[in-house]
Amino acid sequence: MDKTILITGSSRGIGAATALLAAKQGYNVCVNYLQNKTAAEQIVDSINQRGGQAIAYKADVSSVADVTALFNKIDKDFGRLTALVNNAGILEAQSRVDNMDVERLTRVINSNIISYFLCSKEAIKRMSTLYGGKGGAIVNVSSIAARTGSPNEYVDYAASKGAIDTLTFGLSKEVAAEGIRVNAVRPGFIYTDIHASGGEPDRVNRIKSSLPMKRGGHPEEVAKAILWLLSDEASFSTGTIIDVTGGR
Ligand code: NAP
Repeated sequence: MDKTILITGSSRGIGAATALLAAKQGYNVCVNYLQNKTAAEQIVDSINQRGGQAIAYKADVSSVADVTALFNKIDKDFGRLTALVNNAGILEAQSRVDNMDVERLTRVINSNIISYFLCSKEAIKRMSTLYGGKGGAIVNVSSIAARTGSPNEYVDYAASKGAIDTLTFGLSKEVAAEGIRVNAVRPGFIYTDIHASGGEPDRVNRIKSSLPMKRGGHPEEVAKAILWLLSDEASFSTGTIIDVTGGR
């Protein structure tokens, strides 16, 4: 049976590592990006050169119109979607809550929460037995920030990830009897570009000595947990979260 996966925000970082690993595991891979076409095409080329099947899709996953168009294009290109990884996310400059304006809060909520709801909605309509689908699996990329709260850095981001944990718990129960499993991973400090958007590109190296394993994580280590949750190996797991944090 054909396996087709959409990974939101897979031009770079954790999403890109997940796309590459999914291709190795035989998925047709839908690589989504917001603006970095070159990076997305590099991931797609690398999959296709190894004999896999991948296509890059530009779409802002916080936009209803873009998400609708994205899923319609995937229907045409690959047919039935079997797996969704809600991964695209942002953080903004490190700041206390008293200095956060409403425009920033709206951007974080739209990018990190609304997008996960919009893509889950479309995936359910294609996967759920209620809609004539044959089932599937969703993994939400949350963050350990949901537990720590990220004080003095980005409480808004942390709160958005708390919402993703709650989405995972609730949605998993809603669709459990319709052939869909919904789980999450909570990465800790992973070497990606996201820390630069917070104003501290070297953040992982600053923090790593305080972590039990004394090192930062690599995107590939998160990708392995995501692919396991999507696989039949995790067939009786839903509504659960795997922390990938080096022990934090
Ligand atoms: P990253 O390296 O900054 O990459 C972000 C990706 O998301 C890029 O592919 C970007 O596309 C895409 N993106 C952002 N907003 C988008 C939107 N509205 N629509 C479509 N694509 C969008 O990030 P990362 O570190 O890999 O993070 C991935 C996920 O892991 C996020 O949910 C993040 O919160 C979570 N996480 C990361 C860490 C960490 O330490 N890195 C820890 C915990 C959780 P473009 O390339 O086009 O810009």
